[in-house]
Amino acid sequence: MSGDRLSLEARANRMGEAEEEGIVRCDACPVLCRIREGRSGACARYGNVAGKLVRTDPVLLMARTVDANGKLVAFASDTWEGAPLEPARTFLTGIGAGTTYPDYKPAPFIVAAEHAGVDTVTVVTEGIFSYCGVKVKIDTDRHLGPEAAPVRVKGEQVGHVTTAEYGSQMLSIGGVRHLTGGSKKEGNVTCDTLLALCSGEPVALSIDGGHAVVVAAGKAPSVDGKEEVRMRVGCGSATVGIFARQWFGLVDEVIVVDDHITGVLSEHQSGRVLKMPPAGIRVRGRKSTPGRYFKVAEPGLGWGGTDITDPLSIIQKIDAKVAWPGLRLLMTSTTGEDALYCVLDEHLQPVPAPMPAAVAAVIERIGENCEPALCSVTFMAGAGGSLRAGVTENPILLTRSVAKGETRVTMGGAPVTVWPGGGITIMVDVTRLPKRAFGSVPTPAIVAPIEFTLPRALYHRLGGHAADIVSIEEVIRSLAAEARIDAWPDDNPWPFATDKP
Ligand code: SF4
Repeated sequence: MSGDRLSLEARANRMGEAEEEGIVRCDACPVLCRIREGRSGACARYGNVAGKLVRTDPVLLMARTVDANGKLVAFASDTWEGAPLEPARTFLTGIGAGTTYPDYKPAPFIVAAEHAGVDTVTVVTEGIFSYCGVKVKIDTDRHLGPEAAPVRVKGEQVGHVTTAEYGSQMLSIGGVRHLTGGSKKEGNVTCDTLLALCSGEPVALSIDGGHAVVVAAGKAPSVDGKEEVRMRVGCGSATVGIFARQWFGLVDEVIVVDDHITGVLSEHQSGRVLKMPPAGIRVRGRKSTPGRYFKVAEPGLGWGGTDITDPLSIIQKIDAKVAWPGLRLLMTSTTGEDALYCVLDEHLQPVPAPMPAAVAAVIERIGENCEPALCSVTFMAGAGGSLRAGVTENPILLTRSVAKGETRVTMGGAPVTVWPGGGITIMVDVTRLPKRAFGSVPTPAIVAPIEFTLPRALYHRLGGHAADIVSIEEVIRSLAAEARIDAWPDDNPWPFATDKP
C-alpha cells in the first residue's frame, strides 16, 4: 500500500469548476448549481468557501473501539475524544463523501486497507438515486386503507398501500414514477417524504378510502390520532392454536375475531384434539376449514382489524340442538386488547358476565406475547446504473461480483440485502445507518451513502480505478481533523470480516 499516493487534495481541487470571479459551478449532480462565495447550492450539500467547492457536511469515519484486553467496548460518548484512529479499526463511510458526477470519474474515495492479512479496497461515494423508495411496515391489524389505494402527503400521491404481511400493513412509498413521472410538485413532495422517512422523522400520510397514519422509523404508528401499542400475537386461527390448551376447561367456546382468519376453538383442529364438544355457535363469513372463517365483517379500526365494536354482532346463529344454557363463551381480539366473556342464558342468548380471573390471565398472556407495534422503514434503491462507473471501468463485472457475494455492499456501514437477479437492487433498514446519512437533490432524487468493499486483487481484475486508490492511513491523516467520527455500531457486521455477512 506504500505505493498508494494520496490524491485527496488534487481530487478536491478537481471537483467543481471556477467560473466568473467568485462563482464556482458544482458538478456533483445534474443540477450544476452556480454558487457564489459564501453561499451553498440548491441542496445545501455543497458550498463555495473561498472560491472552492466544499461538501458542507463532514465526511463520516467510523471507529471500532476495544478495551485493554482486545474486547470490543462501547464508544465512550457521542463525540470522538481525540485518541488516534487505528487504520485496522476505521471505516470511511459514504456519508459526506460527496459524489463525482458524471460517474465516469472515479468515486470520491477508493480506500486501501489491510484486514486479516488481506489487502482490501473500499470504494466510497454518495449515490444519487432516482430509482428509489421505501417500504413501510406498520405493525397493526387495523385496516389502513384498501390494497393499492393511493397514499398522499399534502394531497400529492407519494405511494400506495401494498400487500399486507403477517400482523403488519405495508405501504410502498416513492419510486421512480412518483419522483419523475408526475408533476413537479408530486416529485418534490415524494422526495421530501422519502428523505423524512429515511431520516427517522415522523410523516403524516393519508390513504384514499382509508385513514390518516403517522409513521416514523422505529416508532409506534398512529392511526387517526390513536397510537398503536401492540402487534397481534398471530391471526385468529393461530391465536386459537397457541392458547387452546390454556383455555381448555375454563371456557366452552372461544372466538378470536380477526379481519383475515377468525378462529373458533371448539371447531378448530386444536379444539378437536382436546376433545372439546361442539358449542353450536356459528359465526358469519365464509368457512375456510373447520374453525377458520374468512370475512366475518368488513375491515376497519375495530376488533382484530374488522369494523366491529360489538363482537356479538358476528354471531350468525346459535344452534339450540347443540348449545346449552350456561355455556361459557369468550370472545377476544388477536392482541387481547378487546375481550368479552359471556354466559348463555336459558334462551341461549350470550349475556356478558364478569371474566373469571383464570380466563383473564390467558387474555393477559395474549398481551404479553404481543410485540410492540412499530414502523419499519426499508430504503430500496437501484445501484446498478452509472454509479458503477465510479467503481470500475467495466460495470458489469461489478454487478456480477456483487451478485456472487465477492463484493460487499454497505450503506453508511450498514449491511444491505441485495436482490437476486439483474442489477444491484439493494434494501437497507434505515435505522441501521448513522444519523444524517441521507440527503436529496432537486432533480429530485435521494442521496445516500454507499460503499463497495472487496479484495484489492479482485478490484484490479474488475477494472477498478487503480490509480486513484489511497491508503486508509492517508485518509485518517488528511481527514480525521475535519471528519465526524462515530463509533461503529456493534449490531452491524464489520465490512472486512472474513465470514459471509
Ligand atoms: S443541487 Fe447540490 S449537488 Fe446538485 S449541483 Fe447543486 S449544490 Fe451541487
